[in-house]
Amino acid sequence: MTTPSRSSPDPASEIPDVGDLHLRYYPDPLLGKRCRPLGVPNRAAQACIQRMIELMYEHQGIGLAAPQVGWNARVFVTNVDPDGLTSEGDRVFIDPQLEPLSEVPEAEDEGCLSLPGIRLEVERATALRVQALGFDGEPYQLDAAGLLARCIQHENDHLDGILITARVSTLQRIAVRSKLRELKLQWDEQERRT
Ligand code: ZN
Repeated sequence: MTTPSRSSPDPASEIPDVGDLHLRYYPDPLLGKRCRPLGVPNRAAQACIQRMIELMYEHQGIGLAAPQVGWNARVFVTNVDPDGLTSEGDRVFIDPQLEPLSEVPEAEDEGCLSLPGIRLEVERATALRVQALGFDGEPYQLDAAGLLARCIQHENDHLDGILITARVSTLQRIAVRSKLRELKLQWDEQERRT
């Protein structure tokens, strides 16, 4: 018999240090993982969410998901405000549930902060209903269409470890193969240095 190990902590309570959050690039393994529900955010989780909003602005994105900054949690933030300069359009989604409201998907160009230099035509529902917890932990419901609906689906995919490269035809994937290889080399290089 071995000494009993300390029981593992509740995974949802593992909140990273806010200072450790930084943008993760393909093929970081966290980008391929299904994330855990967070539940009502505590102070530490809220600090991480606030940092995610800052990082979204810093990298000029319109959405950012927790695994993209090294946090395994079902959380993402968006701001599809065309001016991009007001915090009014900031939205926080915790443990979101999506329900498509449109029958016919539409293909449109998408980029991803974790896949710099890559743009792919991705089919998405044009309208959807989302139920989630907000920054304060209060549940809410939102009907979204257009760019916001697309952005929500893109970010929600990140929570299931799905990147846009998995949402397109083989032909499109082949077209970006060399770019992906480049990103992998950069990532390997980065890993060697750290
Ligand atoms: Zn993305």
